[in-house]
Amino acid sequence: MENDQWPTIAERAEEILGNSTPAPGQDLWRKVDEFIVETLAPKGDVGLEAALVESYELGVTPIQGQFLHLLARLRQPARILEIGTLAGYSTIWLARALREGGKLISLEHNPRFAEIARQNAATAGHGESVEIRVGPALDELPGMVSNGEEPFDVIFIDADKPNNPHYLEWALRLSRPGTLIIGDNVVRGGEVIDPASDNPKVRGVRAYIELLADDPRIDVATVLQTVGSHGHDGFAIAVVR
Ligand code: SAM
Repeated sequence: MENDQWPTIAERAEEILGNSTPAPGQDLWRKVDEFIVETLAPKGDVGLEAALVESYELGVTPIQGQFLHLLARLRQPARILEIGTLAGYSTIWLARALREGGKLISLEHNPRFAEIARQNAATAGHGESVEIRVGPALDELPGMVSNGEEPFDVIFIDADKPNNPHYLEWALRLSRPGTLIIGDNVVRGGEVIDPASDNPKVRGVRAYIELLADDPRIDVATVLQTVGSHGHDGFAIAVVR
């Protein structure tokens, strides 16, 4: 399909964030984010910065990217799967946690974003280790299982939230004992606690968290709430039995 039939990142950001109002603590959270970035984040990292500029509003923040990197590093992963690439900012942070010779596969349905992410990964020095596959993730994942794709050590789920329960099922089929599965944006400004919500994204993340609780293939799982320049949200973090 032609790229111009797909939204740009700016159009997507306008669509998603256009009418959103800042949370009451937003200004302070943003300032604390800035302080942490100023104090602890790597400086002059051209590859990361290029991806951040493009993904700033919709992707993980610098602190969250570094947090993902730290979590993944603890697993010393040879293989990482990401669902939802955008401009490749989280992709690059995760790729930097790979063992020598390791591989990251990222799934993205918008070909424009996939192309930007490929360029950013290459600029960041991960052209070899990162493979971005274009198409709806739910089309790609069954083929990965049936083709006997090797299991992944870390899986990051960050695409369309209504599909989170399906992504969790495929992630589990592509896991092995000890695989770390991380889901982003599962708190959604606190909306996650509303059992009557008719927002498909909220329903998706609620169902995801309930599956983490009930599925016997999950060894341990929790949700870490976050506040920062992107408001109040959280990561669901789970380890496969
Ligand atoms: N992980 C990125 C980061 O933190 O830098 C942000 C990902 S953004 C929140 C979600 C991405 O998922 C978008 O790029 C969107 O195009 C992609 N996406 C949405 N639905 C998808 C689907 N069904 N299959 C694959 N990708 C999808």
